Amino acid sequence: MKLSTKILVGLLLGILFGALLNKVFPELVDPMDRYVLSPVGEAFIRIIQFIVVPVVFTSLIIGLTSLQGTGKIGRYAGKLIPLYIATSCMALAIGMFMAVVLEPGKGVSISETGETPGKVEKNQSLIDWLVSIVPTNPFEALSTANLLQVIISAIIIGVAMNLVKEKTKPFLALIESFYAIIEKVLEIILKAAPIGVFALIASVIATQGFDTVIKLLWYVLGLIAAILLMAVFYYLFLLVVKAKPNHFFISFLPAFSLAFGTASSNAALPVAMDNAQNNYGMKRDITSFALPFGTAVKRDGAGILQGFNALFIAQLFDVPITASLIIAIFVSALLVSFSTAGVPGAGIIMMTTVLSAAGLPLEGVAIVAGVDRLTDGFRTALNMVGNTANAAIVNKWERS
Ligand code: ASP
Repeated sequence: MKLSTKILVGLLLGILFGALLNKVFPELVDPMDRYVLSPVGEAFIRIIQFIVVPVVFTSLIIGLTSLQGTGKIGRYAGKLIPLYIATSCMALAIGMFMAVVLEPGKGVSISETGETPGKVEKNQSLIDWLVSIVPTNPFEALSTANLLQVIISAIIIGVAMNLVKEKTKPFLALIESFYAIIEKVLEIILKAAPIGVFALIASVIATQGFDTVIKLLWYVLGLIAAILLMAVFYYLFLLVVKAKPNHFFISFLPAFSLAFGTASSNAALPVAMDNAQNNYGMKRDITSFALPFGTAVKRDGAGILQGFNALFIAQLFDVPITASLIIAIFVSALLVSFSTAGVPGAGIIMMTTVLSAAGLPLEGVAIVAGVDRLTDGFRTALNMVGNTANAAIVNKWERS
């Protein structure tokens, strides 16, 4: 069986098992989740993150020190950044359009959602975030797994290595040898992926059940529909630039299903890099730069969440939807999508920034919190689709 099939089987069995526990054996939910599902799921997310930093750091240095690597990274960034902005605007437009058309917040009374609105802490400002991505210490960047800091550190070291040349050979050989080890480690860890996603998804379904989802059904369905529409947009985009969309989705299926199961872009990154190289046939230096960079900043799923969610909350609290409200949501959600972390539940933490920028009640966060983990899987899978699709588009442009 192929890895993607095994992961999908793991996901499906996890959903069934979680539903069985929740509906038929509710008394077993707590012990099963506490002693089996949560620990196994968490251990899997932890072990897969084990390779993220080494993969990004080593592959980026190898890419940069390969022939003319330094100049190329600048060129790739020059193509990726405008593409990221354009496609993120598209994602937001789709998310907000769906919220306006479906009106998920109309007719839902706040008490019906079953959540008590509570006060939520405010988030760090965008300027602070921009300053915080500049590394102060390469070893700290590596040890704290701050992806953007790791990328910046690797670029600085890679550029310097290109300038020093001869003397860097032993260090490059060490990096290459380390990369080979890490690739093997990934292969071994992935054997546990079906069990990991089984435990993660079963835990969510067993503990949360479907009650909150039913209360916020329009919200959940509207969000998922917007996410699927954006995936269709990428399919068409890849088709137009002749980047083989069918081959693309099949090649990256392991990464997308893992993103869905773990709700963590960071955890899915090493698999996406592996799929790009071994299944899709992406250029090595594009893979090693674009995918980590995209994992650090490119989040279409988070953008859709923020736009859709802010309008939902406006509708729920009967705030009039004016042009200035739409612009405030659009701009803040766009910026926030670029600074959302690739970990489970990051989107909900960032919601406060968008809501306060748009002058909407922060209590809205508590209302949607109950369904966040369910929509997070869809969002994260789309985050990975957007990241890899943009890289595939640049890859196509570079080849032709
Ligand atoms: N969980 C998402 C990710 O890892 C971020 C989010 O919460 O939207 O990409």
